Amino acid sequence: MVPRRVSIFGATGSIGQNTLDLIRRDREAFRVVALSGGQNIAQLAADAHEFGAEVAVTADPARLDDLRAALTGSSTEAAAGAEALAEAASRPADWIMSAIVGIAGLVPGLAALAHGSTLALANKESLVAAGPLLMETAQRHGARILPVDSEHSAVFQALQGEDIGTVERVVITASGGAFRDWPLAALARATPEQAATHPNWNMGQRITIDSASMFNKALEIIETHEFFALAPDRIEVLVHPQSLVHALVGFRDGAMMAHMGAPDMRHAIGYALYWPERRMLPVARLDLAAVGTLEFSTPDPERYPALGLAREAMRLGGLAGAVLNGAKEHALTAFIEGRIGFTDMAGIVAEVLEAFGRTPGHINAAMTLDNITTIDRMARDAAERLIAGAGVGRQGAGRQG
Ligand code: NDP
Ligand code: MG
Repeated sequence: MVPRRVSIFGATGSIGQNTLDLIRRDREAFRVVALSGGQNIAQLAADAHEFGAEVAVTADPARLDDLRAALTGSSTEAAAGAEALAEAASRPADWIMSAIVGIAGLVPGLAALAHGSTLALANKESLVAAGPLLMETAQRHGARILPVDSEHSAVFQALQGEDIGTVERVVITASGGAFRDWPLAALARATPEQAATHPNWNMGQRITIDSASMFNKALEIIETHEFFALAPDRIEVLVHPQSLVHALVGFRDGAMMAHMGAPDMRHAIGYALYWPERRMLPVARLDLAAVGTLEFSTPDPERYPALGLAREAMRLGGLAGAVLNGAKEHALTAFIEGRIGFTDMAGIVAEVLEAFGRTPGHINAAMTLDNITTIDRMARDAAERLIAGAGVGRQGAGRQG
């Protein structure tokens, strides 16, 4: 059997490491072309060495010498920077994992699709900011995008053999994050450390905090809209503290297909890795009798204002997803750095979105990579002005010191 050529962008992260775990268990079936990372040079070099990667890329040009040094004696090429990432994504591969965190995943994802590679998409930010551009690039080059986000993998699986035209609604579930049982009044004082612990999933720091604020679910509503071309009013969110039902698809005859499984990303990654086949995967099997009860409830809009912001971005359309994502990424960084409070994040994103909505010229610009990059930068600048100025940060000011 000819090994499949695979590349992993964001290899040093949570999704990347889980992907390598699956590849390690089926070593003969794969040949690793490119691996990318950011600051974790030791992990990147160790994996490049173990898997005999053709090229290892760090996103940070300042770390190139470190990477070269760490790769001494191996046959792996070292490269660094945004252009090197795009070049590595252009190398012929059958399957490419897009697992960089943030908008930095967009360019390598587009490059992979433009070369006809199948893109396993964990990087939801690129779909939120540039969904139509990604989908259109895939279509033009006969490339396929497979969802890796667990909810979207679940919907995708529930839709196998079904006609999307018969779908009435899609329900994606949310655990409720770290603070689902906290009194509302306490949220403003929540610290990044508290927000970065997830009750059910083990993920990277940024997505874990986004789970606590439900910005993660907000991004996922838009991701569902873009990926499955579903109208916003057909997409619902339920809080489901057990995280065992990942999504449900409701059809016009009243049937609902639920996708269940242990909260382990290796299921969704493995499904995308072997699609259209189903292979044995090393994930825990559910014992529903032991679980006993599954709970569902409607998310409280006051606790989770991010969900309403996703609806607003979809209503505005055009490049509003890029505005939401850029402002959110910037506000999240500010929260992690202790510059603003937990509940300030939604306030900042709301204000930025509102400002762009008032003068819609920018969000109505054509969906090109240039325009997305520009509006992403503008949204971050607008968020920063709010953080630095008097307007936002009132609640957060001085809280973390
Ligand atoms: P991690 O933070 O664990 O990993 C992020 C990866 O991206 C690392 O390899 C990191 O390198 C790299 N990276 C960070 N910043 C940049 C940058 N500016 N340019 C290029 N590379 C960069 O994140 P996760 O694995 O948790 O998430 C990855 C993506 O998958 C996100 O889009 C997330 O929303 C999505 N996702 C994750 C899930 C999960 O279970 N973790 C579930 C569903 C979706 P380094 O660490 O070396 O600095
Ligand atoms: Mg998810």
